[in-house]
Amino acid sequence: MGKHTGFVEYRRKGVPFRDPIRRTTDFREIYTDPDENILTLQSARCMDCGVPFCQAETGCPVDNLIPEWNDLVYQGRWREALDRLHSTNNFPEFTGRTCPAPCEGACVLGIIDLPVTIKNIENAIVDRGFAEGWIRAHRPATRTGKKVAIVGSGPAGLAAADELNKAGHEVTVYERDDRIGGLLMYGIPNMKLDKAVVDRRINLLRKSGISFVTGADVGKNTDAAQLMAENDAMLLTTGATIPRDLPIPGRELKGIHFAMDFLTATTRSLLNSNLEDGDFISARHKRVLVIGGGDTGTDCIGTSLRHECKNVINLELLQQPPKERADNNPWPEWPDVFRTDYGHGEAASRYGADPRRYSVLTKEFIDDRNGNVAALRTVKVDWHCRDGKWAMSEIPDSEQLIKADLVLLALGFLGPETYLADALEVELDSRSNYRAEYGKYQTGVQGLFTAGDCRRGQSLVVWAINEGRGSAQAIDAYLSK
Ligand SMILES: Cc1cc2nc3c(=O)[nH]c(=O)nc-3n(C[C@H](O)[C@H](O)[C@H](O)COP(=O)(O)OP(=O)(O)OC[C@H]3O[C@@H](n4cnc5c(N)ncnc54)[C@H](O)[C@@H]3O)c2cc1C
Ligand code: SF4
Repeated sequence: MGKHTGFVEYRRKGVPFRDPIRRTTDFREIYTDPDENILTLQSARCMDCGVPFCQAETGCPVDNLIPEWNDLVYQGRWREALDRLHSTNNFPEFTGRTCPAPCEGACVLGIIDLPVTIKNIENAIVDRGFAEGWIRAHRPATRTGKKVAIVGSGPAGLAAADELNKAGHEVTVYERDDRIGGLLMYGIPNMKLDKAVVDRRINLLRKSGISFVTGADVGKNTDAAQLMAENDAMLLTTGATIPRDLPIPGRELKGIHFAMDFLTATTRSLLNSNLEDGDFISARHKRVLVIGGGDTGTDCIGTSLRHECKNVINLELLQQPPKERADNNPWPEWPDVFRTDYGHGEAASRYGADPRRYSVLTKEFIDDRNGNVAALRTVKVDWHCRDGKWAMSEIPDSEQLIKADLVLLALGFLGPETYLADALEVELDSRSNYRAEYGKYQTGVQGLFTAGDCRRGQSLVVWAINEGRGSAQAIDAYLSK
């Protein structure tokens, strides 16, 4: 511990985002450059508490050695901090930008004060590593002669590829899309994670000896059984890609889209032509209604604002979370509290009010008599807990018509598509994910493993990295038998 009076002397000061009005005029990252002096003082707030909950159990899913690198940053030993960080996390530049930071919810300082700015410090360490040229490609000194195919190039597949390549196996990643990265590329928008940051890491992986094949839809245009036969092991990291629908009257109307169709097309057009090809679903001058209040919903709000929408409203079926932790949600659990994410702040700055409306049930989409959506009919609901189970009831006379020209459905995901499971005879679990025990990653098929969102269900980048690393260990053990 470098500074005895750390958190007593210094208040929490996060790295600010760019001005909310200005940043919605472009798709550049929302973050500002951190001030090194401030970061050093912030790292001093980490007081070597003895039992660092931030890096265990309810904290960081990849067990980042947080107090160690905080101390090294305080001492100005950035290179060593980077080595510590990379020893547990293959891609800190992805988590440093996108992670909701469960570590901060579990920070011991959080019991009596605001937690350490762990995520900011993580991001600064890795960005500094790239700026200084410390992060380089490393080809393994020897090869084992074993071949592994990985299907799906999101963070789970990439982390597994990195670990298996380091172990000396010959790794090829197959991706059906035209770019590598999974939801890091087509999902999380540019302003949260610049695609040059994703490409930079993929180029390093390529230089380290990993092969990538795009446009390979395994189970459709690429034979799954043949891949199994040609490799010593195979890993499925195909993500949770079936979107939850809202099958209510009027769903067939034009102007109602799944969030992923909206977000993916925007990013692809942005990367291909800086949006000049017009090959995306435009929110320009439209009244946008986003249904669903999670990360995907926030990204739809932020993207719509950058398209110059007329206005944006976000509907959520659940009730508004409390401002402070509830009694049944104690430290060090993830605090289930009301948060204002970047998109909400941007909408509030642009239109003067938070776009979110809670406890709203959408009953029907109403047309403009030309087959286009024109409005939504909604009712307010009341949530109550009976015998430990939450239930909702509609509030009488609470019906409302909300005008909308573009509706985006951000209602979560229902697991992986099943054609690949069918081709390889992989069993599904009760939640329609590929079945494999946590920590083992082995499916019922010999030599076939699975990890990430397609195994655990829709989750987080950091959990995908955790599962990619874990499955690589399981595959390495299997290949070493
Ligand atoms: C809009 C959005 C925003 C998000 N924001 C955040 C965030 O801010 N922070 C956070 O931590 N998490 C966020 N998440 C969640 C996070 O992105 C995912 O949990 C994570 O990417 C899952 O990684 P994965 O590798 O399991 O799968 P994915 O990233 O989904 O990658 C799966 C890949 O497999 C490919 N694939 C599928 N089937 C085949 C096939 N048959 N053949 C070849 N390729 C195939 C897909 O094309 C895809 O590229 C967000 C998710 C969404 C949808
Ligand atoms: S990966 Fe996420 S949970 Fe882990 S230290 Fe970074 S921000 Fe915290």
